[in-house]
Amino acid sequence: MMHIAYEIDRLAAQAKRGTEHEDHDGSTFPHDHFGLYCGCGAALVDASMLPSEEEDGESR
Ligand SMILES: [Zn+2]
Repeated sequence: MMHIAYEIDRLAAQAKRGTEHEDHDGSTFPHDHFGLYCGCGAALVDASMLPSEEEDGESR
């Protein structure tokens, strides 16, 4: 699911922009904890804003 990782990375960059986390490197996306965390450990994005692996909307 590499495309999910790419989306997570984009979301993390967006969430960090304009905040104190902008300078922090890295982000964490634990699979058992639905949410996105900064490298410093703070929560960046709520689970409801994350793309779901079950419905990734890539129809063809
Ligand atoms: Zn941070």
